[in-house]
Amino acid sequence: MTRTFLTVAATALLLTACGSGEPGEAGDQVTVVTGFYPLEYAAQRVVGDVPGVRVETLASPGVDAHDLELTPRQVASVQDADLVVYSAGLQAAVDTAVTDQAPARSLDVASVVDLLEDDHDEHEDDEESHEGHDHGGVDPHFWLDPQRYALAGDAIADELATVDPDNAAAYRANAEQFSADLRDLDTEFTDALSSCSQDTLVTTHEAFGYLAERYGFKQVGITGITPDSEPSPARMAEITDAVKQLDVTAVYAQSTLGRDLADVISSETGTQVLVLDPIESITDSSAGTDYLEVMRANLESLRQGQGCA
Ligand SMILES: [Zn+2]
Repeated sequence: MTRTFLTVAATALLLTACGSGEPGEAGDQVTVVTGFYPLEYAAQRVVGDVPGVRVETLASPGVDAHDLELTPRQVASVQDADLVVYSAGLQAAVDTAVTDQAPARSLDVASVVDLLEDDHDEHEDDEESHEGHDHGGVDPHFWLDPQRYALAGDAIADELATVDPDNAAAYRANAEQFSADLRDLDTEFTDALSSCSQDTLVTTHEAFGYLAERYGFKQVGITGITPDSEPSPARMAEITDAVKQLDVTAVYAQSTLGRDLADVISSETGTQVLVLDPIESITDSSAGTDYLEVMRANLESLRQGQGCA
């Protein structure tokens, strides 16, 4: 937290140096601040090569998006943004900053993508797993359903068209291309996963509820919606039993790093460990350089792990 104190002085300078001008005037910069990678990528796709628009993201790559803390400089960037794109309930610090700093415009993507109820078993509720992670009883991981993710792109285009009306047509065209790419991805998933021998999807971080619903799987999560919660020995035994009874042949870790929980299940049941990335950020260990590439790597894991013809 040393960094927090060091940035205070810098923030004071920044606040005087970069007051955001009125967007839409010649030479002015439009700044879009997003909460985490999938919102950043959607915003970048919608902005495309429209000049003078900067897209920033608050969550650093590799840092758990659920646990984000904001520096004073980042709080100032929320205040100064022309548009803040966030998803209420995923990042409490961003929700608070939007409420307190009242940026010129903000888009809560959770309000446009039809979030599903967070339907955990009771194992989530008897632990302290929700400490500091109030996600309002809904599952925030909507971007893992390409159809819902496209709705986010459309909503970002609508907001940008209001912020910067001179470029409204470009934003809408870019959002349409983004939608088209996601429709292609959705078709690939539907085709590749139409005939699988296993419909139970055993994941560590329970981030794949939307993907499971869209493509006909039943998700069993080891740790729950927030990845840092520690499963009880009883929960681990329950999952091990389910894996054996259901003839599950693969369990999914969320990255090539930190796959210890999946490894525990694997060593007790003889299943293989594959990577299913929730794409909360892109890092050097990601199986691709953007959302579309990592989703296609996820599809290969699913084909292999779920026994799809
Ligand atoms: Zn998550």
